[in-house]
Amino acid sequence: MTKKITAFAALVVLLLSQRPHAQGPAGPARIYFVDVGTGASTLIVSPTGKTLLVDGGPPGSGTKISSLLTTLGISTIDYTVLTHYHIDHIGGIKGLADAYDIEVWAPRGEAARLREHETAPYEPQHLLDGDETVGIAGIEFRTFSVPGHSPASIAYATEGIVFSGDILFAGCIGRTDLEGGDMDTLVASIGRLMDALPGETIVASGHGPATTLERERQTNPFLGALRS
Ligand SMILES: [Zn+2]
Repeated sequence: MTKKITAFAALVVLLLSQRPHAQGPAGPARIYFVDVGTGASTLIVSPTGKTLLVDGGPPGSGTKISSLLTTLGISTIDYTVLTHYHIDHIGGIKGLADAYDIEVWAPRGEAARLREHETAPYEPQHLLDGDETVGIAGIEFRTFSVPGHSPASIAYATEGIVFSGDILFAGCIGRTDLEGGDMDTLVASIGRLMDALPGETIVASGHGPATTLERERQTNPFLGALRS
């Protein structure tokens, strides 16, 4: 079931309250897509009650995210996973870390960009290469190395949903003109995700509306090579 939350529609684009079916005996996770301006973050409240933020948004987004937490009656963010190092995904991390006692997972191949960032430096506690299974907030995630938009992007998949960062959007794919960008590499990364996960898997992208892997395989104008 999908429903709008009008009281804070500016922040919460979409609430998928019944899916995906995150692991855990206490029921499904609640997932909130958070509009943080030029970037996007996703807040997950796990069945254990722990909160997990996928990407930290641009600098200053901590205020918006904190406001959402207040609206939802949530006191803290426990964990953050980062898909890639671009400033609209990591710029808010330092502010969030200052406000909350968060543990951060980041791509190993891009951790130096976060660590040495001139405006928002942060040392992540956990580094990922892809092809791992990690339990975060009581949810089991399978990680994928998905370069092509950035040098070492990581996608995080759990039952029914994949957090793709900026590699794949509804009807589009990530830009390839920045450092580490390469079209063939990017399409190959998306192809590996599509081969590994069910077609009905929801794609929670770094920007824009959610979609599914199969919808993009069938209709995305940049992915014709994956339809043959
Ligand atoms: Zn990006």
